[in-house]
Amino acid sequence: DLSQKVRLKGSSELVELGESFNSMTHTLRRDQELRQNMVADVAHELRTPLSVLRANIEAMQDGVLETSPANLESLHQETVNLGRLVEDLRTITLAESGQLKIHRQETDVSALAARVVEAMRTQFDSKSIELAVEALRPVEADVDSDRIEQVLRNLLANALHYSSSGGRVVVKVERNDSGAVISVADTGIGISAEDLPHIFDRFYRVDRSRARATGGSGLGLAIVKQLVEAHGGRVRVESALGKGSTFSFSLPV
Ligand code: ADP
Repeated sequence: DLSQKVRLKGSSELVELGESFNSMTHTLRRDQELRQNMVADVAHELRTPLSVLRANIEAMQDGVLETSPANLESLHQETVNLGRLVEDLRTITLAESGQLKIHRQETDVSALAARVVEAMRTQFDSKSIELAVEALRPVEADVDSDRIEQVLRNLLANALHYSSSGGRVVVKVERNDSGAVISVADTGIGISAEDLPHIFDRFYRVDRSRARATGGSGLGLAIVKQLVEAHGGRVRVESALGKGSTFSFSLPV
């Protein structure tokens, strides 16, 4: 009787061990798949700008393309975009593997938002898009101000890219029971219900050609999500095609 009990206990432990081993293998395999996908995505993203650079330089060497300051500037811009892509990749890789360091300090998020808005104002002016900030009261939160600035810059860059002239963008900072809530609302092209669940995936773009032309890396929102979640916050989006989008994120205090 006793031996049977032991055997039963033993076998149930074995079953448990087997199950946890299986789920571990499953997780490892998933991690490996994610990593392989990432490498494939990166190779794909680097290919286009590199072949543009190469073709243009070869055309200059062959004398088909003038080495004018304007042509050199567009090549230079291409390398700047590549540099940004590589920097974004570094951030996303660190964040996805939980290695991103968050240096928290008590920060007035309202003042931070106002500062970012002013830094980007000329870009909005030159596209005739109105930019307003509603962040009158100080809202203190323990955040990494560089990272939160990056989040705001990414959201504002999108609001700018996906709006046409005459549009309006409003940045709001509010305080609720659990912390700070920051939102960026635009009157731009909007996002369809089918695309909405995917926009935070890395390299996902609703319209690939359009995104390329505006120099976006397709990593902006993936970085936003990672950075906000690294602060213990959450990102939300509401959007209607042709009407506009509102991205908001919370930061627990
Ligand atoms: P990208 O570099 O292409 O802008 P993001 O990760 O920042 O990459 O955004 C992913 C996609 O989500 C964009 O390609 C675009 O289709 C859509 N998107 C992001 N922000 C907005 C917005 N404010 N209005 C409309 N579409 C947006």
